[in-house]
Amino acid sequence: MKIFKALLPIFTISLLALYAREHYSLVPLHLSNALQYLPVLLILLITSVSIYFNQTKILLSVLLISFLYFCSQYNWVDTPIKLSTTATFVPLLILLTQLLKKQSIISVRSLPVYVIYVFFILFSLWIIEHQPIWATEKLFVHWLPEKYFDWSPFPQIALSLYFIVFLCLLILFSKKQNSRSATSIILLFTTYIILQPLNSNDTSLLVTAIMLLYLVVLLQESRKMAYIDELTLLPGRRALQEKLQGLVGIYTIAMVDIDFFKKFNDKYGHDTGDEVLRMIAAKLGNVKGGGTAYRYGGEEFTIVFGNKSSDQTIEYLEQLREDIAKTKFVVNRRTKTNKNLKKASVIITVSIGMADSIDISSAGEVIKQADIALYKAKKKGRNCIS
Ligand code: GH3
Ligand code: MG
Ligand code: MG
Repeated sequence: MKIFKALLPIFTISLLALYAREHYSLVPLHLSNALQYLPVLLILLITSVSIYFNQTKILLSVLLISFLYFCSQYNWVDTPIKLSTTATFVPLLILLTQLLKKQSIISVRSLPVYVIYVFFILFSLWIIEHQPIWATEKLFVHWLPEKYFDWSPFPQIALSLYFIVFLCLLILFSKKQNSRSATSIILLFTTYIILQPLNSNDTSLLVTAIMLLYLVVLLQESRKMAYIDELTLLPGRRALQEKLQGLVGIYTIAMVDIDFFKKFNDKYGHDTGDEVLRMIAAKLGNVKGGGTAYRYGGEEFTIVFGNKSSDQTIEYLEQLREDIAKTKFVVNRRTKTNKNLKKASVIITVSIGMADSIDISSAGEVIKQADIALYKAKKKGRNCIS
């Protein structure tokens, strides 16, 4: 459901763009006039917003599509060697961008990526300028039957790369189903269309559409930054506050706190502590009974069960507590004598306090009661529910 909601604007914009492209003559005049300026305005807007939000992947994708847009506007890709070289390097650059880890625009870790980008661009310019035989031979080689490729002006190597990168992007999308990875597939198709020789004025339409897609992605990313806790990937305090405001009728709130976590940090180090927080959060995120887990702060979590009293939720919380207590978490342990990391398996337990809204009027008060119950669970000896 969540993924459907996230992808809805992406589908809508893409379908509208495809429809407008098919029926370009029906696009109202004032809109088609605006399309002369819209791409540049949107490119400037998305570039500055992605720099502001430190979104390296989006920035690189936007720069790539802008480069191709200006190439097509000024008819720069007008010879077979220019087309073949560009069409061969573009899918590779798109894949490289998608494979990037989350990293800042200005950071030492991003430097190798920029170097590879610049190398690709200079290398392709060099091939275009000098047309060395070994490169042209490879670019124009027919290594598969021609009948499978004659529908496209691209050489076989470029078309094959487009196909391989498309498959890779599909795999990445299946692993991370979000609008950003969906947009990268649309980006690949858009670059394919833009690079077609004798492209008509619908290039502006497509670039406008893809820029709007990136605007949607940026908005979703900024929402995620505000609502999702970066360490545990659970919704954070702000999301919990919003949920609490919308709660009516019967519901149950559970406060979950990791036992003796300070000792754990002291023994294994803060980084290992972070690893454990992530693992516990993953378990909490899969709680049964329709509960939603939030990171309340530090090593404390909150689970909200809508439409359920505490009697109806206790079995799910008990399952969760037991599951965590039984799991041997494998963590990296840094030994004092040896700086190398060693694997260690540890047992972690949690204490849970719960309260429901029966006889309590506000969600804030239910949380307070759950907190008091948590304190009791700690007093009872931990690794239990109160
Ligand atoms: P208790 O069983 O009574 O809950 O004991 P405790 O040690 O878990 O509780 P206490 O409140 O004394 O300590 C909480 C510890 O949680 C302190 C802090 O180092 C650790 N902690 C809080 N947030 C994080 C975090 O984001 N990462 C890591 N690694 N540790 C954290
Ligand atoms: Mg605590
Ligand atoms: Mg604790």
